[in-house]
Amino acid sequence: MLQVSPVRAFADNYIWLIHAPRDAHSAVAVDPGDARPVEAELQRQGLALRAILVTHHHPDHVGGVRELAARHGVPVWGPARESLPCEARPLDDGDAVTLEHLGLQFSVMAVPGHTLGHLAFVGHGTVFCGDTLFSAGCGRLFEGTPQQMLQSLDRLAALPDDTRVYCAHEYTLSNLRFAAAADPGNAEVTAALAEVTAARARDEMTVPTTLGRERRINPFLRCRRPALRASAERHAGRELPTTVEVFAAVRAWKDGFR
Ligand SMILES: [Zn+2]
Repeated sequence: MLQVSPVRAFADNYIWLIHAPRDAHSAVAVDPGDARPVEAELQRQGLALRAILVTHHHPDHVGGVRELAARHGVPVWGPARESLPCEARPLDDGDAVTLEHLGLQFSVMAVPGHTLGHLAFVGHGTVFCGDTLFSAGCGRLFEGTPQQMLQSLDRLAALPDDTRVYCAHEYTLSNLRFAAAADPGNAEVTAALAEVTAARARDEMTVPTTLGRERRINPFLRCRRPALRASAERHAGRELPTTVEVFAAVRAWKDGFR
């Protein structure tokens, strides 16, 4: 199983350090929005940074990229369709990132919606999905359409149940509070809310999650379920004949949910 260390950054970001299977002293950083905590963790664990992967262009994901890439002299891979603060090897859907000397290979999935060029990195039973899929939630639609985001989430949801989902924020508790409102008959959501409330009170992480779990508790992966549709229609006060309309209504509901 791939070993991955979290680096907490800003209020609720996770920067992920992937340990190289073929070299115990090497790591790859995903979305280093801040260089300082990454340096501290590398030093604490005696790891050398070998590469940087970027899912999308938002500052809390790329803020430390230039500094880390320059200081460690490492390559950066990122979305071909977005501009990053330093030179990056451009990636698009269907590409692969192969780091043979480290024993790492990821396939690249384009998952537009949160941003238009957003990528996910899939491999070793894991997915690094940035701000596309969260535990019990999904990213806001800053650039893309509901249709694009639904399609992106559908592609992620097609990965195997035991795929470990490394998302970039600790949003699980507030997402589950919304899920309890949007999917009120879902006993798994009720159980997850109790469990996550307790975990967060102890300042524990709630990610990575798994795709199997997300299919059970994440309202944005459940828009084809009659119960979710009925709930979205009640909230919207009108019929929502297509899955995209259900998804858009649930996303808009969440945007205004407190
Ligand atoms: Zn973002």
